[in-house]
Amino acid sequence: MGGPVIITTMDRFLRYARQKQKDIITSIREFVECESPSDHPPSVNRFVDLLTASVKDIGRVRTFPGGAYGKHARCEFTLPGKKDGQILALGHSDTVWTLGTLATMPFREAKGRLWGPGVLDMKSGLVFFIFAMRALRDLDVPVARKVVLQINSDEEVGSETSRPLTEEAARASAAVLVLEPGTGLEGKLKTARKGVGDYTIVVRGRASHAGVDFSNGANAIVEMARQLEKIAGFTRLDRGVTVSPGVVHGGTRSNVVAAECRAEVDIRAPRDRDRVYLERVFGSLKPFDKRCTIEVTGGLNRPPMERSAGVRKLFRTASTLAAELGVTIEESSTGGGSDGNFTAALGVPTIDGLGGVGEGAHAVNESILIHRIADRTALLAKLVAAI
Ligand SMILES: [Zn+2]
Repeated sequence: MGGPVIITTMDRFLRYARQKQKDIITSIREFVECESPSDHPPSVNRFVDLLTASVKDIGRVRTFPGGAYGKHARCEFTLPGKKDGQILALGHSDTVWTLGTLATMPFREAKGRLWGPGVLDMKSGLVFFIFAMRALRDLDVPVARKVVLQINSDEEVGSETSRPLTEEAARASAAVLVLEPGTGLEGKLKTARKGVGDYTIVVRGRASHAGVDFSNGANAIVEMARQLEKIAGFTRLDRGVTVSPGVVHGGTRSNVVAAECRAEVDIRAPRDRDRVYLERVFGSLKPFDKRCTIEVTGGLNRPPMERSAGVRKLFRTASTLAAELGVTIEESSTGGGSDGNFTAALGVPTIDGLGGVGEGAHAVNESILIHRIADRTALLAKLVAAI
């Protein structure tokens, strides 16, 4: 009787995560099948209830009102070890997918992947972290810091109501681990993110009859067209600064000289000093046609996450720990923002992209690689134990 004795040096967290992989997938499925679009607070609340119920036995949960959005939640885990200071893990409960998307994009397991709305961005990341905490408890690994997972309900719509909570929790933390998806099918970590924002430009001219009173009109659309050429020219590709007019509305009828035109412009900037540049150039806009006026509002609403010394050190730790799991991990920078932008801007070492490995965030091919579930879960456990 008895099978062969297999001597293995496999990392204990990796072994744990592999043993639990079925449970992890079941949990991801439950999370994905509980739809939670940002603009439907009752659904988001239902998802938050599901998530917090799943950690009831391993932590203490507090919820916070989310204004026009769903509630935010914080979970402090009960873990072995004597604690000094705090680690903050950041996630979001909302997705970009409208209610009912599951009907056309159901959760499914196929081709070595899990598919479904929000599976990558970012329900798998939340599940990985919860199982990483279970690993620390079940393996009785002491951690040196209190561990708090904050789950925001308005990340996909700008994080207006969660931002103060995120910043408060970050100020009390030695490090922030953001559970957003990794970059690409290699799952690179994100050590730099551009600052993100927008400007709204309103040009007001003077309406008149395009046929009988043409000269009395000041055409706001024509004025805006001239302004937009100038605005698009604020892009500085060599510095990574991009300025992209995305929406334009103007005029009422073709036979009326347009009295008003409005444009929304996306801005991205890798460094805080680029903010000064953007404020200066947008502030300098003057009408070409003196009969028109220009109103400019906006700016960066997420500061850049810069690759500071603290971020570099945290990445080195992550990459050493990943090597113990047999995984080579690389870093990347991205033009997209996350709640990690806020915490990094406070000078708190922040590493992002620790969640699922896959592709298609916000797209119909949204999916994660099943064979990367275990090492991501193990890496989160190891990071928390090491910081
Ligand atoms: Zn996300």
